Amino acid sequence: MKEYIDYNQGDGELRNWIIAETDFNPKYQGKCESIFCQGNGYLGTRSATEESYYGQVRGLYVAGTFNKCHPNEVTELPNAADMTGMDILIDGELFNLEKGEFSDYRRSLNLKQGELIRKFVWTNKEGKKFDFEFKRFVSANDLHTLCTHVSITPISCQAQLVFKTGINGQVTNTGAQHFEEGEKRIFDREYLQMLQKTNQSEIVFIHNTHHSLSDSSGPVSSRFEMERRKVFMVFEAEAGSGRCISFSKISNVYTTRDMEIQGMDLEDFRLHSLSELKKQSQKGYELLLQESNETWDAHWKAMDISVDSKNPFDQLAIRFVQYQLMVMTPKHDARMGIAAKGLSSEGYKGHSFWDTEIFILPFFTYTFPQIARGLLGYRHNTLTGARKKARENSYKGAMYPWESAWADDGEVTPVWGAADIVTGKATKILSGFIEQHITADIAFAVWQYYMISGDEDFMKEAGYEILFDTGIFWGSRLEWDGKQLRYHINNVLGPDEYKEHVDNDAFTNYMAKWCMDQAVKYYHHLKENGDENFERLNQLLNLDDEITELKEKAEKIFLPAPNDSLLIPQDDTYLKKEIIDLGKYKDQDQVDSIFRDYNLDQVNQIQVTKQASVVLLLYLLEHFFDHDTKEANYHYYESRTTHDSSLSLSIHAVLASDLGNLDLAYSMFEKAARIDLGPNMLSSDKGIHAASLGGVWQIIVCGFGGVRMTNGKLRINPALPYQINSISYPIVWNSNPLKVTVTRSSISIINNGAEAITLTIADSEYHVEKELTV
Ligand code: BGC
Repeated sequence: MKEYIDYNQGDGELRNWIIAETDFNPKYQGKCESIFCQGNGYLGTRSATEESYYGQVRGLYVAGTFNKCHPNEVTELPNAADMTGMDILIDGELFNLEKGEFSDYRRSLNLKQGELIRKFVWTNKEGKKFDFEFKRFVSANDLHTLCTHVSITPISCQAQLVFKTGINGQVTNTGAQHFEEGEKRIFDREYLQMLQKTNQSEIVFIHNTHHSLSDSSGPVSSRFEMERRKVFMVFEAEAGSGRCISFSKISNVYTTRDMEIQGMDLEDFRLHSLSELKKQSQKGYELLLQESNETWDAHWKAMDISVDSKNPFDQLAIRFVQYQLMVMTPKHDARMGIAAKGLSSEGYKGHSFWDTEIFILPFFTYTFPQIARGLLGYRHNTLTGARKKARENSYKGAMYPWESAWADDGEVTPVWGAADIVTGKATKILSGFIEQHITADIAFAVWQYYMISGDEDFMKEAGYEILFDTGIFWGSRLEWDGKQLRYHINNVLGPDEYKEHVDNDAFTNYMAKWCMDQAVKYYHHLKENGDENFERLNQLLNLDDEITELKEKAEKIFLPAPNDSLLIPQDDTYLKKEIIDLGKYKDQDQVDSIFRDYNLDQVNQIQVTKQASVVLLLYLLEHFFDHDTKEANYHYYESRTTHDSSLSLSIHAVLASDLGNLDLAYSMFEKAARIDLGPNMLSSDKGIHAASLGGVWQIIVCGFGGVRMTNGKLRINPALPYQINSISYPIVWNSNPLKVTVTRSSISIINNGAEAITLTIADSEYHVEKELTV
């Protein structure tokens, strides 16, 4: 297939910072809308082209602004009014690239600064030629602002140009309309404003926009218009003989969820947003870009990783990952989490999954602990919903929802999914009912954050409460088996979602046990140290009674042990199921290809696994298992794994590097890094794969880079595959920023922190005051 995306366009300082689309085909626009998406964690926008095409999905999302447009529908992140689209008429004809001819097409995203630039030469049917340039960015330092710059230059011809551009609320979430028609207004004949309110959650969105024409544009006539859910300007100009039409469009969006405006009344709020827009507009595109760049520079200073690889793409891939993780994450507000598609699409409805804690959070915990703390703060806020879910299911403690939106919602996973090829009916999605390991995953991430950051304040404020209440949930979830004299966890869905209603899913049981043990351990720790928080938590959660019971139960939980062949049964029945040749379904471009031949009931009866499950257990609780057990299980389960979830490859790659199988690890890294970036032009239509991006960071730092926190201690055992000569990466260990450089023959660590740190490298312990090379 023709290559549309080019990764080698950056020169000089921009080498390995640029991803570019070098040709345009509307069939593949979804991919670039997603991978070129822009944002700052407060807002995110798909990079739909300014002009429209069939199949285009324009998207502007503001983190944490959930709405349920109808009682029968699920709460989701609404698609807010669009401010980047525009109609351009040239000599009366609506412009798009399917008409006439275009050449020199290039759209590129600069990962260093988040600016997107699209350029091409277009010739219309009459043979008139024009140079087009569109630029845009979402400000990294003013969370509300997004800027566009447009210029069209006729080449040796004259033409009449008309632009229709403004604020367009005629958008939906795949047909669902979340907003009531709101007030539209024009201030000073040039500033456009539109208010819209979500119909159920009653969040008011205020959009403002302003256009500034450049002096070279010559006389331009302008008027404003309003339509249903739309307010816009119409500019008309004659272009030619040295006159290029160029203008910048500075826009902002605020909502009544914003922390900084709490307490302001609506009238003051709209004036505030307008006056902010006026200030930004006066600064203009270039100055705003410069300010935004300074914030990006600071991000990169703290997070940049250099990868010296035989394949320069690897360097770009890790930068893409970090760019995306920064634009998707609500760093400003602990009342919201990361969505499974970030802010790049409405896929998975903007909900947060275990994707955050197990796949994405390690990047933040090791690089920006403050941001990790905020993300875990979201889980602390959602304890209300988690307790509600536990009560609804007759359990105690906190049972985290599989999919999470508002703090007190509880479970928001949709109930119906894809069509069943046998019955023709919609398949029931069981995750919201029985995929329960997320409750242990969140506790695990809290502890991981605590150990790596040493943030005792967070534990007192939020962390211990999560550890205790999740432990209490598991205690109440266990079922006593009078024959085996063991507690079981029956009827669950493990990470392998292809096995429904299983008993004793290995991942779930081990993680639940781990979670209960932590609750017991920290109960004693706080109590015995006379911690000031102990009494408060004791009263709130009835710890004295609950934990005594929990301790006894945790000792008697059934943990699937390795059998004679060292295999840990994935669940009670997995190893007895039919084995088929999975060649046709493994590592396919189209995921879930097995469902073209089997329905879910049939897949349930086959030894086929969707994604890392036992393999993930071997990674997270690595100290429970020896090398041989890991190796045996890795090979057994990997050969039965289709990797139909994008969460799968990265975990396999990390484990393969732990096991020293570096060729395999590298080939899995290559595939994981190409889930969004690779040549499959349809892979990201529904948004980027946020968890996989976090997973790719883990391959580089925890896999090849060898970083691990085991039992609270730092260990660095690098394992560089043949293709990679060296990696240099930053991590923060207990508030001490470290720079680690790994080559084929050495590790060096520079400690820029105030304290000496202790770590193990290949089983030897070292102290690093300032610098160490081994
Ligand atoms: C995966 C889940 C994941 C979800 C959202 C599903 O396909 O199986 O593990 O949490 O996607 O990314």
